[in-house]
Amino acid sequence: MTLNRVDITYISPCLADPDKIRLKADLGSNIGDIFPFVNAEIERANYNPGLPSLSLQKEFRTITLYEEKMTMIKAENSTDAMQVIEWLKDIINDIYARKDEIEPDHTASDPPRPLEIFKLLPKTNCSKCGELTCLAFAVQLLEYEQDLENCPKLKEKDYADARETLKAMLPQ
Ligand code: SF4
Repeated sequence: MTLNRVDITYISPCLADPDKIRLKADLGSNIGDIFPFVNAEIERANYNPGLPSLSLQKEFRTITLYEEKMTMIKAENSTDAMQVIEWLKDIINDIYARKDEIEPDHTASDPPRPLEIFKLLPKTNCSKCGELTCLAFAVQLLEYEQDLENCPKLKEKDYADARETLKAMLPQ
């Protein structure tokens, strides 16, 4: 299934940088079957077969693809976001076109480092998760000793995107 339609459903300022925007979009089709091929072709793709999801970087922007939706954080503005979406469509559709020549890579990407997880946490060190600090929570998440559900702050609307990105990054 090629990627021809991307409908933006939500745009708001980025939490970390209010001069940039974050967004969610619906994809017009289920593109989950292409993820192992993108994983094979794009060097810095972060593939999580458990969900499944696949994250890509376009310079400072982070794009996370799910089977039928996507998120983007740190786009400059809506024009920039649309240009990145066109770039993404070209990449996905090019890989679809060459699919028969590509050996799919079904392996999960290396787990993220604690600091990468920490950057997306609320950083209040409130201890409501049972850990002394958000950094300790990040470490425990990677050790399978904690669960995102245990951070009440992450359930707040403002952290919805961070929560989605964390879900995509964490090993399943
Ligand atoms: S509950 Fe959330 S915000 Fe509070 S310390 Fe734990 S991870 Fe950090």
